[in-house]
Amino acid sequence: MFNIIIFGPPGAGKGTQSAMLLEKYNLVHLSTGDVFRSNIKVETELGILGKSFIDKGELVPDEVTIAMVEDFLKTTKESNGFIFDGFPRTISQGEALSKILMQLDTNIHAVLALEVEENELVSRLLERGKVSGRTDDQSEDKIRNRFAEYNNKTEPLLEFYAAKNVLHRINGLGEIDDIFNALVHRGRLCT
Ligand code: AMP
Repeated sequence: MFNIIIFGPPGAGKGTQSAMLLEKYNLVHLSTGDVFRSNIKVETELGILGKSFIDKGELVPDEVTIAMVEDFLKTTKESNGFIFDGFPRTISQGEALSKILMQLDTNIHAVLALEVEENELVSRLLERGKVSGRTDDQSEDKIRNRFAEYNNKTEPLLEFYAAKNVLHRINGLGEIDDIFNALVHRGRLCT
């Protein structure tokens, strides 16, 4: 198995680049944000719980998110590997992911961190909010809260993965295809 984390703040382009990586490497995509949104749509218990946090731009609690990911991974064993998009977002999630993957006899091979400065991200998200219908993309307050969550809880994972020698930082500003090429080469994914 070959497992990739696509990492970065909200609006960095994780979804767009994941879609391109999936097509090229035939991996299974796990976007925790997408899983929450589809649960919200059909009003499951998980969706109702998640919505109260997502609507404020806060992270959903670790125990809820980790249980959801564990269930997904353990029921999708047959694959070339996973691309994690929006997970992990805290050190506890990162530790839990290592443990689950170890139980599946695999690990994280590359963490591709997209770097874009914050003002550019805010305008990208406000633009996306006009078409995505995502309530958390439509208010600058909620967006700023998501950045605060990212800076406080998620960014420390960069050190966590740097220490494991799997971190690759990539400039997330520019043409989508150029960024994709940079991910493939800097992440030393096979071409
Ligand atoms: P995203 O689509 O990745 O931007 O996620 C949208 C929202 O879903 C986030 O702002 C969080 O409220 C929630 N969420 C997604 N992934 C996670 C995660 N790994 N941990 C906690 N909350 C998450």
